[in-house]
Formats: sequence, structure tokens, C-alpha cells
Amino acid sequence: MTRYEGKKGGIVPDAAIPTPMYDASCRRCVRLARFLDEVRTAYPTYRCLPVAPFGDAAARLVIVGLAPGMHGANATGRPFTGDFAGILLYETLHAYGYASSPLSRTIDDPLTLVDCRITNSVKCLPPENKPTPAEVKMCNDYLAADLATLAPGGVLLALGRIAHEAALVALGLRRSEYVFAHRARHVLPTGTVLFDSYHCSRYNTNTGRLTPAMFRAVFDDIAIELGRERSRP
Ligand code: SF4
Repeated sequence: MTRYEGKKGGIVPDAAIPTPMYDASCRRCVRLARFLDEVRTAYPTYRCLPVAPFGDAAARLVIVGLAPGMHGANATGRPFTGDFAGILLYETLHAYGYASSPLSRTIDDPLTLVDCRITNSVKCLPPENKPTPAEVKMCNDYLAADLATLAPGGVLLALGRIAHEAALVALGLRRSEYVFAHRARHVLPTGTVLFDSYHCSRYNTNTGRLTPAMFRAVFDDIAIELGRERSRP
């Protein structure tokens, strides 16, 4: 069992060990690690590694997605970058003053986020965009380390039910006490406010389950919560 020596030489239990937000060499999920190996063979130019959070380390808004997309974050190495799922997200972030550009094309473009960070519940690409509950659980310590940096009064935005539940588990809260619903607002005991939205996936936007107006309404709620301006004209 891994332990480390505390300042006074005492043994600190595992639960107290600071965990990183991300480890590019992590292969704890055997199914996902093998799948990344297969995808890397099929697409040699794709990054095919765990995808790090992106954005402002001191952000008051942290957006939690599901997992990297095959031809998006998995290929480029930046969340929601390179595929359809990022189009509405970055357009909206730009409209509300969080992003320097409405487009996120590659990990090398000059896009920056201000007061906002994007992370995922699962850092590796899952087959068919469907991580198993065990994989979500396995990756949760990275998410917990990420969310632990959110100051009191900060805001979380969960994109979809899996992200909503992963965020609650990462914060040590019971999933049954906070039910996911589009545009729900949950005040958590930590002082953090958790907002929910349907995920901005191609499927949800193409079917009209999530429209740009619906997504903006969530960002209007967040703007009020954070005392920010609403959408730019
Ligand atoms: S999904 Fe998370 S825990 Fe699993 S292998 Fe990737 S980085 Fe590691």
C-alpha cells in the first residue's frame, strides 16, 4: 500500500495523499488503455493519451464533460477540440467572455480561457463514448483533485448525467441527494453551486434535445451566480 511520510515523520493514510489532476502515463483502466493502443495504430497522428484539463487554474467556473471524443480531444489532446462537440461549447464560452476565440482547433492554437476550466469525468477515450461505471470510478481521483482547487463560491457545470454524478462523487457527496436535470441548480455543502446541462454532443444538438438557446440559458444562470456580464451583444 502506498504511503508517504508526513512533516513530522508520521504515516499519512492514503486518503490524505495529494493526487494529481492528470497523469499522461496512466493505464489503470485496462480496457481503455488497450483501446487507445488500437486507435493509435489506426490513427498514428492522434495523441491517444489521457487528456488533461484545459483552462484557467484559478477559474471560478469548472466545466465537467464526459470523456474525450475519438476524433476530437483524443486526437488533439485538448478537451472538446477538433470535433463537433466543441463547436457550441466554445462559441458559448466566447460569447460569455470566458474564451478568447469561438473556435478551438488544435492544442497549439492561441485560444485561452479566462475564469473557466474544462475537464472530463474520464480522461481516456472510451469505446462508443461509453465509459463503464468502474472506469468512471477509477478516474474519479483525478477529477477530485481538479475540483478541490475550486474556491468557495465557485461554480461547476456538469454536461450530462454521468458528469453530474462523477462530480458529486469527487466531492464526497451522495448522488441520490442531487438529481440531474437540465438547467438544475444545486447548492452543495462545500459552497460550490452545481449547474446541469444536457451534454453538447452532436446527437443532442442535432436532435434538438439541446438547442443553443437552452445552452445559453444555463450560462445566463451561471453569469448571475458569478456576478458576470451575460452574453456579449
Ligand atoms: S480513464 Fe483515467 S484512470 Fe482510466 S486509464 Fe485513463 S486516466 Fe487512468
